[in-house]
Amino acid sequence: PKMAQGGAFIDGAFVPVQDAKISVLDFGLTRSDCTYDVVGVWKGRFFRLDRHLDRFEASCERLRLALPLSREELEATLHRLVALTGLEDAYVSMTLTRGRPNPAAPRDPRQCVPNFYAYAIPYVWLANEAQQAKGLALKIARDVARISRRSVDQRTKNYHWLDLEMALLHALDDGADSVLLMDIDGNLTEGPGYNVFAYRDGVWSTPDTNVLEGITRGAVLDLLAEMNVGSSVRPMTEDDLFGAEEVIVTTTAGGVMPVTAVDGRPVGDGTPGPQAARLKALYWDKHTDPAWSVPVDRTA
Ligand code: PMP
Repeated sequence: PKMAQGGAFIDGAFVPVQDAKISVLDFGLTRSDCTYDVVGVWKGRFFRLDRHLDRFEASCERLRLALPLSREELEATLHRLVALTGLEDAYVSMTLTRGRPNPAAPRDPRQCVPNFYAYAIPYVWLANEAQQAKGLALKIARDVARISRRSVDQRTKNYHWLDLEMALLHALDDGADSVLLMDIDGNLTEGPGYNVFAYRDGVWSTPDTNVLEGITRGAVLDLLAEMNVGSSVRPMTEDDLFGAEEVIVTTTAGGVMPVTAVDGRPVGDGTPGPQAARLKALYWDKHTDPAWSVPVDRTA
């Protein structure tokens, strides 16, 4: 099948993902002048699609990027794309870039025509099964700080990933599974593609600023409310991790995942904890709950 590796929507057409190409001149590539979002499809259903689309539209607006698709067209395009791939479990990414420079005014981003594309590929796991069973071992980055929110507003999902990527390379070299970054003032922020939560004395806490407001983070906050478990969105430091009974990371690329070591020190007893296991199970249950997910329209 042509879409076995996944499919893409680009330049107004649906093509196999390996055939989807963008211009080397696109400001999305040369300036990171773009925004994106990623929504999961699990067992044939989009998880919280509306929230992803709300966030994507808000990001486009903040960057003054005019989406060439209406909300309805955007939604229909993503449904059609996933349907064409035949995937049941998919990682569905949408991007809007500034587009190519206009030769008449090559340094004026206002003169560009934004470029929308999307792709759907088999579901992506941030951590493999063995890592998840054991719990992740994370490093705290010491030599790379998360870019300031005054430079890049992290609420706008963006491809300014060099801080995350350099910190990740260092952590992987040190034998860790991944990394968490602090901002320049020592506040805990997030990692390459995920938010973080720490549990102590009955309350799950997650950093309040300089982070992407992850849809999975939001899902966990909603699940905690449903479970009558306390939650707190507040400034945090590395001490919140070292003093935690349990730690998790949250992402569309794998959901809720336990963390069992930070900087080589065990979290709690060093094994995945019961609170994390409960959250993880509930998170996946919600993927078939009509209040949290919609079936991919395979008829369009
Ligand atoms: N932080 C960053 C920097 C991310 O890129 C992501 C997801 N790609 C997240 C957090 C998690 O967000 P979500 O739960 O919406 O996938």
